[in-house]
Amino acid sequence: MGYFSFEPIYVEDGNKVLEIDILPEKYCNFDCVFCPLGRTINKLERQQLFAEIDHSLSRLVNIIKDNQVDLVYINSKGEALLNSSISYIIDFIKSKGVLVRLLSNGYLLGRDTYKEIANHCDEVVGELTVITENDFQKILRPLDSYTLTEYLSNMASFNKQYSGVFTLAITILKGYNDDEQSIQQIKNLIDQIAPDKLVVTRIEDPRLKRLIVDEQRFNQISTALMERNILN
Ligand code: SF4
Repeated sequence: MGYFSFEPIYVEDGNKVLEIDILPEKYCNFDCVFCPLGRTINKLERQQLFAEIDHSLSRLVNIIKDNQVDLVYINSKGEALLNSSISYIIDFIKSKGVLVRLLSNGYLLGRDTYKEIANHCDEVVGELTVITENDFQKILRPLDSYTLTEYLSNMASFNKQYSGVFTLAITILKGYNDDEQSIQQIKNLIDQIAPDKLVVTRIEDPRLKRLIVDEQRFNQISTALMERNILN
């Protein structure tokens, strides 16, 4: 059967987009408290070889052909770069004349092997949430050796050499990055990472009520950050 999963196709800016998940279950180098997938049981530092992907790729190519897909968005249960077949998967999709967008939390993008893999994508989405080292450890619960400083510099160094579109997805968390000082710091980080596009979101899961920023404040923050990006 294969372990990839496929979402219904949708249209974005006139392009038919197919979202795919290339992980058999959740594998990540973070264990964020707000993760919609729940706790990370499989916390990985390096890539892992999963089951063979031939069946999944046959299904993928049939969906691409039958629906004239323009862009495949690799949006997985965790960090897709941890699948050791990802390089092959990206090149396979590109060989069909289809664009590739990759979602990553961004930590691995500064390391040469992963940088090289992500460079093959037309668009890469990295993520930004908390802005202090303490909150990084407490809220994103990464692997032991990880630091916020390295995280941010990884995304910045990746984007410095990347020729595709780099999108930064920022999540606003109540009590962690929603005050004026934090917004100013986020603006500075946007300058440092220099994304081509910005997406600002907030937690919406009612089970995480303590992290939900109210709509009015969220709209203020979102407008302030978006303006910053337009000015740059
Ligand atoms: S980086 Fe994404 S997938 Fe990984 S634990 Fe955090 S929210 Fe979940």
